[in-house]
Amino acid sequence: MGRRQTMMEKYKQQMKAYRKKRMKNDNTPFIPLDGNVYIMDTLNPTKKIKAEVVKKRTKQHREIIESLACPICGNPMEWDSAWEAFVCMKHGKKAIYEVVAEG
Ligand SMILES: [Zn+2]
Repeated sequence: MGRRQTMMEKYKQQMKAYRKKRMKNDNTPFIPLDGNVYIMDTLNPTKKIKAEVVKKRTKQHREIIESLACPICGNPMEWDSAWEAFVCMKHGKKAIYEVVAEG
């Protein structure tokens, strides 16, 4: 019983540290000053697509992209910090979109 509690405490501490680390490593992209966001399909990186920002939030006086519309199905895509991309799984096959610079 005592040992079990210790394991549980340890787990909770690890989860807390993990969450803290994740928050710190927030790599969500910022919206460029001109407001235009371009993305590229990582599996077919031939052309840039102008993305529609669905949701944004302000962080440290800059606007960051919380959600982008999928260029194929139009559903909002969330930022995936592991992929460092916006991922859509709603139109049949998984699509991974990287944010790219204009020009
Ligand atoms: Zn989609």
